[in-house]
Amino acid sequence: MSSKQLKLNSLEREATIEEISNTKYDLLIIGGGITGAGIALDAMSRGIKCLLIEKEDFAFGTSSRSTKLIHGGLRYLKQLEFALVREVGQERAIIHHNAPHLVIPDKMLLPIIKGGTYGKLASSFGLYVYDLLAGVKREERRVMLNKEETQKAEPLLRTDILEGGGIYSEYKTDDARLTIEVLKTAVARGAKAVNYLKAEDIVYDKSGKANGVSATDMINNKKINLQAKVIINAAGPWVDELRKKDNSLKGKRLRHTKGVHLVVGKDRLPIKQSIYFDIPDGRMMFAIPRGEVSYIGTTDTDFDKALDSPGVTKQDVEYLLAATNNIFPNVNLTEKDILSTWSGVRPLIHEDGKAPSELSRKDEIFISPSDIISIAGGKLTGFRKMAEKAVNEAAKRLGNSKPCETDKIVLSGGDFKSYQYNPDRYVDDLYSKFSNVEKAKIYNLVYKYGKNTEAILEQAHSQYADKAQPLVYSELNYTIENEGVVTLDDFFNRRTGMLYFDRPNIEKIKSQVEEYFDEIVNWNIDFKNSQHQIFEERFKEVLDFQ
Ligand SMILES: Cc1cc2nc3c(=O)[nH]c(=O)nc-3n(C[C@H](O)[C@H](O)[C@H](O)COP(=O)(O)OP(=O)(O)OC[C@H]3O[C@@H](n4cnc5c(N)ncnc54)[C@H](O)[C@@H]3O)c2cc1C
Repeated sequence: MSSKQLKLNSLEREATIEEISNTKYDLLIIGGGITGAGIALDAMSRGIKCLLIEKEDFAFGTSSRSTKLIHGGLRYLKQLEFALVREVGQERAIIHHNAPHLVIPDKMLLPIIKGGTYGKLASSFGLYVYDLLAGVKREERRVMLNKEETQKAEPLLRTDILEGGGIYSEYKTDDARLTIEVLKTAVARGAKAVNYLKAEDIVYDKSGKANGVSATDMINNKKINLQAKVIINAAGPWVDELRKKDNSLKGKRLRHTKGVHLVVGKDRLPIKQSIYFDIPDGRMMFAIPRGEVSYIGTTDTDFDKALDSPGVTKQDVEYLLAATNNIFPNVNLTEKDILSTWSGVRPLIHEDGKAPSELSRKDEIFISPSDIISIAGGKLTGFRKMAEKAVNEAAKRLGNSKPCETDKIVLSGGDFKSYQYNPDRYVDDLYSKFSNVEKAKIYNLVYKYGKNTEAILEQAHSQYADKAQPLVYSELNYTIENEGVVTLDDFFNRRTGMLYFDRPNIEKIKSQVEEYFDEIVNWNIDFKNSQHQIFEERFKEVLDFQ
């Protein structure tokens, strides 16, 4: 295989589509979220030749719309799911080592309030057990605070009901970037992955076993057929839609619940660290600082509308603002403070009689009579283990007995061993080499692209120096040639996170990016126009509360 083919290069998309239409794969994965990406990496590491298709952009679904935490699952402790706490706790440490630029240690404050979810003793004991189960290093274990210490840690907290607090270890991430780095790593090992390619119908052999799909290339509106020995349905909230097409939607099914997050300026919610706090209806919520903004979330309500655009309602906004103003009484956030929002759908497994926030976050596998392996539920945090279970099923069918070894695979851009897993040191090194670039910009790039940042800076400096904005050109070009960027929304939303965390700046560079985009890619004019239009709508949609 030539190295040309081992990148997620959108400029080679046509050739890739030609190639995959003429190849029979061991494994076809439907869905390019974190679950599908994890499966592709695991499969390739065992030598299983695989193809992944995604109907929109990679991470278009829930995997770009989460709370963006790789967490040990304190809430699972409350539900007494000890094994799950242990498993996800161990997973955090593994993913942090394999991608330190994307899985970043963070201290979380848990305020203890009168009548709250966790009392003083329960918090102290709960966080102690949590640390033990999650295998947290001694020096990073929970610290309990009295009322005064908690107030000092977070002066914005209301004091009348405050009894104390606990500080414990969590990890922050960028869900969409984590998905793309996992996928890039799989592609570098030989996996094929194509976005904007939708699985329409399942194809069967004479014995009724699924052995392919018919698919639509959403860019050219062309139909193609894809063949594989085994199919995994990793379509997240859409898993049941495919099970329905396969006539196998029987027994257990998904329950969709919607979760909304709001982004406000750091000046309007100047919290000193991430906080996991009680809200009046008995649920809990996060407030998380991130660069120049803070974000709050989430809601958890049953959802039965269009999965592609769950949207944010006025009710969602009011609920989140009221809950935030309740615990931080002096900030008085209003709708006008909102800079951006996002809304995601959880693909949970239905359980009779349970409220949305009581549903287990466990994953589950369903095997259909046609032998399609569907996997749903679970969390971003546990993606590696979910992938292992799904690939074990596929491997059984393919007579492959190799064990999972993804715990040892460093993700694309994630090799920070020589920096003691601290990307800040790499930022310093790059800054001494590219001192004409603002350090804040280098920092920003490193926490997106990790060790691949050097190539972006290098090319801005050498190849694109004559452009009006060399770094913007270089970053865009990198994401088109290495990260499958096809549309403006892919770039501004899932590769750079600007739509959520730096929305005002999009207006400043949008026309320049559009111009560069048209220079680099050559999509058919209808697709290009419709995508520019879709981005205009998405840009407005994040502040359009119905
Ligand atoms: C509000 C919210 C907050 C969350 N917070 C956290 C958190 O902080 N930490 C954590 O660990 N987890 C969190 N989660 C859970 C986590 O985000 C999900 O479990 C995870 O992202 C699911 O990934 P997935 O790949 O299974 O699904 P998805 O990311 O939805 O991927 C499925 C993909 O399949 C594609 N697809 C569907 N049909 C087809 C088709 N016919 N052909 C081709 N492709 C198709 C879709 O377009 C989609 O991109 C949160 C979830 C929500 C909703």
